Amino acid sequence: CGIVGYVGGQCALDVVLAGLRRLEYRGYDSAGVAVLADGGLASAKKAGKLANLEKELADRPLPSGSTGIGHTRWATHGGPTDANAHPHLDNAGRVAVVHNGIIENFAELRAELAERGHDLASETDTEVVAHLLAEAFSSCGDLAESMRQVCRQLEGAFTLVAVHADDPDLVVGARRNSPLVVGVGDGENFLASDVSAFIAHTRDAIELGQDQVVELRRDGVVVTDFDGAPADEQTRAYHVDW
Ligand code: GLU
Repeated sequence: CGIVGYVGGQCALDVVLAGLRRLEYRGYDSAGVAVLADGGLASAKKAGKLANLEKELADRPLPSGSTGIGHTRWATHGGPTDANAHPHLDNAGRVAVVHNGIIENFAELRAELAERGHDLASETDTEVVAHLLAEAFSSCGDLAESMRQVCRQLEGAFTLVAVHADDPDLVVGARRNSPLVVGVGDGENFLASDVSAFIAHTRDAIELGQDQVVELRRDGVVVTDFDGAPADEQTRAYHVDW
């Protein structure tokens, strides 16, 4: 239901948790985070309120890193359990993805992944995306390109945000029929389903257009369509005045 992504010089976990708190008003049944740190990916997720996730993080702290993603879930496929909470990871634990919306053709994709030997751990429609991204990344080595390839296979409504441990200064997002906004900072950039998640850090925003993928690094933002063509005319840059 709410999504936050961050790359920059601050502690990503703090920025992401604060962003999720700003999105709490939308309602949710579970929450989770992933950070890239020390060459790996670490994540935590819990059913219930953000306070449950914070307790989990206090009991089992994540290493600190400067790239992270977070999610508050409103379950559509699979009950509100810890296992179904986002982020979802691939089997190697190198890719993490969060998702708002519904992937309508997830059952076919899931069956195909299972046939190819993937082990799916949740009942969500979302988890297929983590596995598909991992497969695509292992052949092209580029997370934005992997996201474009995966989005072309998906049906339904989605905002997706993903990270890969092999490219630790990168956050990739995508959207179809579901909102995603970039917050443009100085040496740091933000992604969220709603500007309120990052308004404490920047008021410069870029709203992604339909069927676009964004590649977010500390010092730059690149937007393309699902085929990789630069998509600047469709994106709307603006300054938030309130
Ligand atoms: N369909 C996904 C799920 O049930 C995402 C729900 C949401 O938008 O939070 O896990």
